Amino acid sequence: MSVLAMLATAGAAIGLLLGARRHTGAVARGYRWLGGAALFWFAGLIITQVLGPLSSSGGQLSLADVAPLLALGTAAAGVMVLAEDEKRTDNGSVLPGLADGYVMAVALLVIDWVVAFGGEFHHSGERPETFLLDLLHPLADLAVLGALLPVLTVAWRRVVVPYVGLMALTFADSLGVSARLANSHQGILEQLAMIAAACLFGLSPWVEPVFKRLDRFLWRDQPRSADGALGGLLSGRRSPVTNAGAATIIASVCVVIAALVVIINGLASAPASGLALVIAGGAAVLVVAVRILMLVHENGMAMRMWREASNSLRDLADRTGDMVLICDLDGTISYASPLVSSFSYAAEALIGKPLSDFVHPEDIGAAQAAISMVIGLPEDAALALGTTPDTLAQPDDGQAAGGPHDGRFSCRVRAADGTWRHVECAALLYLLPNEPPRMLLSVRDVSDQVALRQQVTHLTFHDGLTGLPNRAYVEERAREALEPAPERVAGVIFLDLDGFTAVNDLVGHGAGDLVLAQTARRLRAVVPAQDTVARWGGDEFAVLIENAAGPQEITELAERLAGSVAGEPFRVADRDVGLTASVGVALADESAPGVVLRNADVAMARSKDNGGGRVEVYAAHMHADVVRRLDMASDLQRAIAREELQLQYQPIVELATSRVTGAEALVRWWRGGEAVSPRAFLAVAEDSGLIVALGEWVLRKVCAQGAAWRDASWDVGVSVNIALRQLNAPHFPAQVAAALAESGLSPSALTIELSERMLVEDAGLIADRLAELRDLGVKLAIDDFGTGYASLAHLRQLPADIIKIDPSFISGLGQDPVLTMLTKTIVQVGRDLGMQIVAEGIEEPRQLAELREMGCGYGQGYLVARPMAAPGVEALIRTGTGDSGKSAGATAPDVNGTAKPGVRAV
Ligand code: C2E
Ligand code: MG
Ligand code: MG
Repeated sequence: MSVLAMLATAGAAIGLLLGARRHTGAVARGYRWLGGAALFWFAGLIITQVLGPLSSSGGQLSLADVAPLLALGTAAAGVMVLAEDEKRTDNGSVLPGLADGYVMAVALLVIDWVVAFGGEFHHSGERPETFLLDLLHPLADLAVLGALLPVLTVAWRRVVVPYVGLMALTFADSLGVSARLANSHQGILEQLAMIAAACLFGLSPWVEPVFKRLDRFLWRDQPRSADGALGGLLSGRRSPVTNAGAATIIASVCVVIAALVVIINGLASAPASGLALVIAGGAAVLVVAVRILMLVHENGMAMRMWREASNSLRDLADRTGDMVLICDLDGTISYASPLVSSFSYAAEALIGKPLSDFVHPEDIGAAQAAISMVIGLPEDAALALGTTPDTLAQPDDGQAAGGPHDGRFSCRVRAADGTWRHVECAALLYLLPNEPPRMLLSVRDVSDQVALRQQVTHLTFHDGLTGLPNRAYVEERAREALEPAPERVAGVIFLDLDGFTAVNDLVGHGAGDLVLAQTARRLRAVVPAQDTVARWGGDEFAVLIENAAGPQEITELAERLAGSVAGEPFRVADRDVGLTASVGVALADESAPGVVLRNADVAMARSKDNGGGRVEVYAAHMHADVVRRLDMASDLQRAIAREELQLQYQPIVELATSRVTGAEALVRWWRGGEAVSPRAFLAVAEDSGLIVALGEWVLRKVCAQGAAWRDASWDVGVSVNIALRQLNAPHFPAQVAAALAESGLSPSALTIELSERMLVEDAGLIADRLAELRDLGVKLAIDDFGTGYASLAHLRQLPADIIKIDPSFISGLGQDPVLTMLTKTIVQVGRDLGMQIVAEGIEEPRQLAELREMGCGYGQGYLVARPMAAPGVEALIRTGTGDSGKSAGATAPDVNGTAKPGVRAV
């Protein structure tokens, strides 16, 4: 039998040494150690075999005892080496493990004692010290088993087979002690245990992969937790216990068995007097052991819940819309959730990198402040992000706004493509049992919101068409730029394009927008970069000058701005559109910024009133003018609504016969009993748009009057003056048609007077309108001819039936040869073109004589008749017709039309 044991130990040595080759590193080394242990056992058996009875000299250690002890030590070292890798992950304390090991060893000893050799010792009568030497081997075995218990629970896959081998060895040694005490030979059981132990050792390197597979099967789809796999094995897939727990369970189970053995043995053999003691003591040990088991279970449950929570946190981190990072307190990233891919990073690539590599340098201060508040370690936090602690005291006040007190902060982080993204972060302290404290960062990408906010801000303060700042921006900026300050000269320039509405009508709104965009570029090119050019609204622009050398510099800039618009035409829709600008300048003074802006606007309006294309510098009286005009506009509106306006008619006579052929309607307004100059209130009406309502009223009245005269069988026509804005009003031709239809006046009896300037300058814009009017059958007259620079050569292109020569020509007749010659030419050309010629403003008989001589057909003027109320005209017509066109003694009426109407003898 001992030969078999020798063969088994030799085989174990070979199996271990060969099996070690299948492994690497610490595992291979561990199996080699175990191989060494098997060789010692082999040697021990040889020595025992050779020395025979000498090998066991009673009461003293023999050479045969040394080899197994060496084998045991080597085996223990081998098991430790085997578990080396796994032990590194176990950060628990050593003491509880050793205590468990000790308890287990003692419990096993008790069992051994009671079961194997306690009885023999009593019978042998051997001295205790000699007996202790006999126990050397089992005791040493038990000590090793106890010491290796924590190792077993940590790396059970690797060490369970050699450990069970050690247990078999212990059993064999115990039986050996029993046999020695009984002075009998090695029993079969001892031999078999020895052989089993050797086989287990020899097989251990070969069966380890089986355990690995088993482990993988048991833990399939489960994240490996740090608790011992043995614990897992004990309780199914999810262990409720820890490494230490598993060791305590094993120790406690051994204690329970030992207690039961003691009790049973006590019941069987103890004297009656000691029975109660044995039962009480054994029961107490049992209760303690059971209680320990319960505590271990509860601890396991608590640990499980903790880990479940931790696992849930990981699951959440993987699925939530925020990125989650777990970092060591030194700022090194140890976990990154998969969502970091949205910043083009692979999660694994971030592991081990410092956080500070990704945070914008300007935002690190705020991030540190927030994190250190949460972690409570300012110095460490400073290190964590790789900057000095000084920055903690000065959180960044720029981008990284946030409340550091609750661990929240905003910052910019670099994505893998190099772009900076805006994120909102929340930092938490992250604690796990048996692990060093870490921090958990949730990171939310708010780049889109930030971009949207910036876009909204941009839109709020910028004009979409020109890209310039808008009115809101100017008003905001003006608060600072125009604040009264003695040491600097500041000012505002307002610029408005003249006749831009007409441009829109001519080329369309899309092309009109292009003109505005071009204007913006031209203005921006003229104004120094540090000053603001803004679109105030519509075709109005504002320029803020914050620091000029003097007022002169600002007015010169205003001139340059006007020049940049008028200098060259705008090219849009395949046309060249020439434009001028009305420019107003106001210098900052003691007034509030808002007032300075308004002053520039007033100056610009003044420039526009004065014909546009010029620069006006604000003067105090301008404001009074504006107020006056506003008052006038509101009074006029009321007067129109109440039909308080009146019409006078100035007769137009045929010069050859003095017959009244027509009458020009002229509107009159008595404001508070005082006559207002038509040119004054008509300008206000045109500016304010009231001209449209006013004109419609005039048109209806005039048509009705004309119809009444014609109903009385008088062959007279009526003329009505039309302003540009009126002509361009959407339904003007329809209005004319309606007035004609309503009154029943023949269209040919209505003459529409348009100023020559209008016909020449806005020809393109009004051509269609004029065609529509002509289609109605009304006549068109060119009013104030000679003032609008229409060349005589172009006269034939003007779509008119009548030419009204401006009074400025008539006044010089007979005195100024040039004017006389020009008038003569106009009359001649007009007659050649088949047009009627009306001379306006005839005041002197000599003028009349000249005109007659030239062959001018018709005339109008104070000499002939002043504007008068309709009845006056009727009296004249009657007189004129009654006297075959030769009326005499008519006096010019005053503006009220109260004087006796009439036609001076001509
Ligand atoms: P206009 O169409 O050229 O009208 C003639 C103007 O010359 C009238 O001035 C008339 O009173 C004045 N006038 C007539 N004969 C003489 C004369 O011998 N000597 C002098 N110095 N002046 C003479 P008024 O009434 O002040 O009208 C001024 C302008 O107002 C008119 O010029 C016309 O363009 C415009 N206007 C008048 N009524 C209306 C109206 O109802 N609608 C529109 N849109 N414009 C009107
Ligand atoms: Mg007129
Ligand atoms: Mg006129």
